[in-house]
Amino acid sequence: MKYADVILPLALPRNYTYAVPPEMEASIQPGSRVAVPLGRQKKYTGIVKAVHEQAPAAYKTKPIMDMMDKEPVVYPAQLAFWEWMAQYYMCNEGDVLNAALPAHLKLSSETVLLYNDAFGDDFTMLDEHEYLVAEALHIRKELRIGEVQMVLDRSDVYSVIKKLIEKKVCLVYEELKEAYKEKTENFILLNPAYDSDASFAPLFDELARAPKQLELLLAYLHFIKTQGEVVQSELLKKSGASSAQLKALVDKNILQIDKRIVGRVRMGKVEVQLNFDLSPVQEKALAAIRACFTEKQVTLLHGVTSSGKTEIYVKLIEEYLATGKQVLYLLPEIALTAQIIRRLQKHFGGQIGIYHSRFSNNERVEIWNKVKSGEIRILLGARSSLLLPFRDLALIILDEEHDASFKQQDPAPRYHARDAAIYYAGLFKAKVLLGSATPSLESYYNALQGKYALVELQERYGGIAMPAIEIVDLKKETALKEMVHNFSSVLRQNIHQSLQSGKQVILFQNRRGYAPFLLCTTCGWIPNCKQCDVSLTYHKHQDKLHCHYCGTRYPYIYTCAACGSQTLVPKNFGTEKIEEDLQELFPEARIARMDMDAIRSKDSHNKMIQLLEDGEIDILVGTQMVVKGLDFQRVNLVGILSADSLLSYPDFRVNERAFQLMEQVSGRSGRRDGQGKVIIQASNTRHPVLEFVTQHNYKAMYAAEIAEREQFAYPPFSRIIKITIRHKKQPTVNEAALVLSNWLRPHLGAQLVGPAAPLVSKVRDFYLQEMLIKLPRDSRRIAQVKTMLREFFSQLTIEKQFRSVVITPDVDGV
Ligand code: ADP
Ligand code: ZN
Ligand code: ZN
Repeated sequence: MKYADVILPLALPRNYTYAVPPEMEASIQPGSRVAVPLGRQKKYTGIVKAVHEQAPAAYKTKPIMDMMDKEPVVYPAQLAFWEWMAQYYMCNEGDVLNAALPAHLKLSSETVLLYNDAFGDDFTMLDEHEYLVAEALHIRKELRIGEVQMVLDRSDVYSVIKKLIEKKVCLVYEELKEAYKEKTENFILLNPAYDSDASFAPLFDELARAPKQLELLLAYLHFIKTQGEVVQSELLKKSGASSAQLKALVDKNILQIDKRIVGRVRMGKVEVQLNFDLSPVQEKALAAIRACFTEKQVTLLHGVTSSGKTEIYVKLIEEYLATGKQVLYLLPEIALTAQIIRRLQKHFGGQIGIYHSRFSNNERVEIWNKVKSGEIRILLGARSSLLLPFRDLALIILDEEHDASFKQQDPAPRYHARDAAIYYAGLFKAKVLLGSATPSLESYYNALQGKYALVELQERYGGIAMPAIEIVDLKKETALKEMVHNFSSVLRQNIHQSLQSGKQVILFQNRRGYAPFLLCTTCGWIPNCKQCDVSLTYHKHQDKLHCHYCGTRYPYIYTCAACGSQTLVPKNFGTEKIEEDLQELFPEARIARMDMDAIRSKDSHNKMIQLLEDGEIDILVGTQMVVKGLDFQRVNLVGILSADSLLSYPDFRVNERAFQLMEQVSGRSGRRDGQGKVIIQASNTRHPVLEFVTQHNYKAMYAAEIAEREQFAYPPFSRIIKITIRHKKQPTVNEAALVLSNWLRPHLGAQLVGPAAPLVSKVRDFYLQEMLIKLPRDSRRIAQVKTMLREFFSQLTIEKQFRSVVITPDVDGV
């Protein structure tokens, strides 16, 4: 008898074992997608992790119901990677599977309600809502949840369904359905009988009385000649003909329709264009990287902004592709990097695939399959593309490796793409290149320790000088009454000069919206979100107050809820306000704003970048979004409106992050012709980080910060596990945190910090408590603590009063 351990797309602590029916024995393998029952009614698709002959001791196995594909959907490398992820990041393999598998490969069962004929048709016992559903069921015999929602015209229908089940009006059953659909397209063919020009003559006569059909036929003949293939939708659109006219030609057996399966993800033509040369310094760096890879798995490329790292990547990718294997190119946020995509496509054409969260579920399945088959040779993607089923990786490039968005926050698996990439590459014996102008302290430390190799590129491409930085003292400017809105005289003058000389300007402010909060000037009251412990941001454009934590929008508040006076004023400033003030100060300038509010679709972002490249925008105002990897020729001025807000987060990484951000945004200035300029407005002009930024001195920043980290045992000198505890009731969450910490303290001593309420102590109606565990870098000890934590977590949630407490461990999560 054979058994299979199956990973289900659920947060289950253990994988279930199922019996393999004899007819599947020969074909089932690790990686096979199977349908299995769970509990009394549910069915799921899962992935086979292992096939063996060991019956589980604790329960009687059920048989696997179905095998969905002929071949496994993942390779053993992915199964090994998922296991590591679950273990290291303290989640379940099901969580990883859930994140990895495109929704359409994950058919879970859909609930179907069936009418219980034994109930009869006496509906007098039912209330109004129950009656509506019962009546519909009586007529239609079965309903899906979505249909019940339509009948009741509301989305929360579960209470009604529950009562109908209790009253035995309906039964429930679960149906499995495959969601991925192949896309088909109607191709138009010419009846092969018309194989010569001569054979057309009678046709043209026949159609003389149907000029529209004749026109359509001629259009068809033209397209088939020029493009080789003609698709129905395109033909109708381009010729302006109607489907009735097409149908007439088909009925006359002149044209034929052939329905074919087509891919949604079109792979362009493979035409490789590598017509550029590296500069001597770039060439040297590339040679150094090659040499490093002979000795080490990971190399850190520390190259200043605009040193031409991308060009080095291109040459390296080219070399690795020659091995016949695959390359993965990871970027922090793919939707924001249209420019890089275009640059790479120019070099690698149709061998390159792109993957990110904005793809449709059907498209994801197709990319999944193309990565698995090896048709996609280079994949460019955000962190989630690490979870694709690569066949044989040779190289992973992780650009902007310092970027915090490589860490997944929610939901599990809460992985760091850099660390996970290094593990994943190891499974393939592939190399990893980390690139950044401002490496994370962790990576630079690892490089100095010799764990990674280090290659440095200190010079901008084309020998252009690093931008000159000027710090403007906001206190002084305010005292001299030189400030106009949030603009110092220095910043105004410089913007003016840039515009005069036909250059472009980028302005950075790390808050979106108009004003981060409202304040009652009479009593000091600040309106907060009802569900979260945060102030509401005023968005003037929509005249609404937004909660940036839960997304709730509120109407503007005119009257103070505390004192009743009408003295609420917007405080502090976001990008929307900057944009408005700029328009007033520079009425002639063409101004655009790039933040999450302005850039809703990937298309609008693309368009904005195009406008900038074409010189149709003079000033770009934005948040973090303007920082990442953009390369514009004509930007010669960058302004940071308030450095203070970057330097005042209560976080041990605050200085590192502020330096990275300022250095990166500065790096957008003066990339092509001539040195650029950067103006940083600050109240606290003596902050050491500002000094490091002014000198572009990464190493000095590193030296200062690493000493602090060592002194306070922060990463890279320790590993941090952050534990968050959530509950709707504050006393419950406080008590749960206390109990858990009392259990942990004897084992951890000073390595346990907290519990305490985090800065934002309530989100979406849940109260929070946090604790940190700081562990030495000793993998045995860390594994031991993780096992202990798991046990304490389940012990806690077994207790009745803590049953609905949510405990979330986040490894390396600060
Ligand atoms: P980084 O990623 O290091 O900030 P980029 O790769 O964006 O720098 O390069 C900066 C600019 O210099 C880009 O516009 C790029 O096209 C150009 N560049 C870099 N290296 C070369 C080269 N070898 N030949 C031509 N242009 C180059
Ligand atoms: Zn008030
Ligand atoms: Zn909220």
